[in-house]
Amino acid sequence: MDSRNWTRRSLAAQAMGKIDAQTRAVVPPIHVATTYIRDEDNGYSSGFVYGRPDNETIREAESVLAMLEEAEAGAFLFGSGMAAATAVFQALSPGDHVVASKVMYWALRAWLLTEATRWGLSIEFVETDDLVALRDAMKPGVTRLVWVETPSNPLWTITDIAAAAEIAHAAGAKLAVDSTCASPVHTRPLTLGADIVMHAATKVLNGHSDVVAGALCAREDDAFWNRIKTVRRSQGGILGPFEAYLLMRGMRTLHVRQERQSASAMALAERLSSHPLVTRVLYPGLPQHPGHDIAARQMEGGFGYMLSIQVAGGEAAAVRTAAGVQLYKRATSLGGVESLIEHRASIEGAGSPCPPDLLRLSTGIEDVDDLHADLDRALRAGHGAG
Ligand SMILES: *Cc1c(COP(=O)(O)O)cnc(C)c1O
Repeated sequence: MDSRNWTRRSLAAQAMGKIDAQTRAVVPPIHVATTYIRDEDNGYSSGFVYGRPDNETIREAESVLAMLEEAEAGAFLFGSGMAAATAVFQALSPGDHVVASKVMYWALRAWLLTEATRWGLSIEFVETDDLVALRDAMKPGVTRLVWVETPSNPLWTITDIAAAAEIAHAAGAKLAVDSTCASPVHTRPLTLGADIVMHAATKVLNGHSDVVAGALCAREDDAFWNRIKTVRRSQGGILGPFEAYLLMRGMRTLHVRQERQSASAMALAERLSSHPLVTRVLYPGLPQHPGHDIAARQMEGGFGYMLSIQVAGGEAAAVRTAAGVQLYKRATSLGGVESLIEHRASIEGAGSPCPPDLLRLSTGIEDVDDLHADLDRALRAGHGAG
């Protein structure tokens, strides 16, 4: 099948249309071997040597993701989103300066503060949606990496990827984007000038809350990407083949799930904006959201499946609201077909920019009227009990 003839949606639905050569099966087998027969002349004509650096099932899932992200240099799967993200930082050298989004996935911020600094990296957190602040933080020739999360967890601030790429490149730095919450359905950062895209594939790419996985995609097969390849190969960060198979199955339905989830998130954001017990809705699809205009430019077909609400009555009412849901599941993580609700401040702890009255909502594929009714009932009960 010539992939140039078909849209990304069609190619994803068929996981690139690969047919098993021996059986003609439309679903290729899962390759579990950790080792491969050598040729008589001692070579490896199949191209496979050992299971830690490489695996055919992993390659198949990577080819789907590389296609989705329009990643010319390809994609690499890792055992988790954190394993993928940290590989980027481990590809840097001691003394390198990094500028990163202040609002970002809390566990990565914690890793940067505690672990990355021990490796000799100097990390500076700025509001990357403020391009002046971003430009001011750059140290030309010393800053090697700008790390941006957009929309950023859990406030859904939007960073202008094209502008951030220009600022990074002007200082001689790479731009990496954590695009977990946009997904390649809505945004493809490499086409906007980013060098690396990172995904917690645990989330909407897999979409069924049953795989922990991470991914990196690159625009250019350059020295930095080769450093990252070395880190994955030598440190054993590769995903397992069973997980890669499940992820590939998940990506076949990415477009239909993501479109439904984003449409429902938009509908909920609009309806909750006029709810008497909601003081603020954070969602880039709303015109009053500070990043709306940029989001409208760099996100297509929707604004994503994540939103947050701030609840009248403060932290206690927010916690009681989360306690009162029935259809929403009170759990961490995001991007699955089931909707999740979480009081983030109690997870993120001190130093988090997350307000205490905030509830994070991951929108699944349930009936949107049911989701609204569940939240409405829980908000009222949570307020009444106070
Ligand atoms: C979940 C998440 C991560 C980390 O991914 P894991 O697979 O849990 O390691 C990183 N970034 C964002 C935005 C996430 O939501």
